[in-house]
Amino acid sequence: MDHDTLVQGQLARAEEAVALARQKTEAMAMPDTQRIQALLKSAARTNRPGKRIRLLLEAADAYVAPAVPLAPCRQGCAHCCHQSVQLTLAEARNLAEASGSPMSIPDFQEPPLDPAAVAGTPCPFLVDNRCSVYLARPMACRLLVALDRDELLCRITPGHPSTVPVPYLDTRQFQLAAAAQLLDQPVADIRQFFPSRAPGTLDHDAGRHSSGCAREP
Ligand code: SF4
Repeated sequence: MDHDTLVQGQLARAEEAVALARQKTEAMAMPDTQRIQALLKSAARTNRPGKRIRLLLEAADAYVAPAVPLAPCRQGCAHCCHQSVQLTLAEARNLAEASGSPMSIPDFQEPPLDPAAVAGTPCPFLVDNRCSVYLARPMACRLLVALDRDELLCRITPGHPSTVPVPYLDTRQFQLAAAAQLLDQPVADIRQFFPSRAPGTLDHDAGRHSSGCAREP
């Protein structure tokens, strides 16, 4: 589908998508706040950065759990893995350890990467349209739960971020709760932390699971 046709289709869907996402949100069960609080507290208590990140990622999974069955995300659908993915240095270290991939430390004084510049470029951990590091994927991927009826609005073309905002689950409340523990962490795009990895270069299957974001196959 060419870019103009895609944009026309997305614009025509915009209102319906917002209404559907609202319906889904209203019908959704509440997340397990007790468990989430316990995980956040454990994360705050530990002085091991790796453990803290793993606890925060587990808490993120618990937060989105009620929404995941309502998402249209399916195995092999990886549009969200073709846009900017921001993660903290601690998450990048966790990802490097889990994947065995060498990582770089970006120059954090540089201006952040323009999301439009990477729109349409696959994440370095996307292999055969699947996340090769599913169990260690960053918080940004875990919290991205689309609530439309299909993936139309998630589609992007190279150099063009999505035209119509995807109605994602609102995770700001969780992000605020977790942010306090990540304030000292510099942030960059996943491609800046792993510049030497080209998509499709995975040489092992550890952690390989589904497509991106939250939904398992
Ligand atoms: S889900 Fe996996 S492949 Fe997709 S953007 Fe996140 S880390 Fe990359």
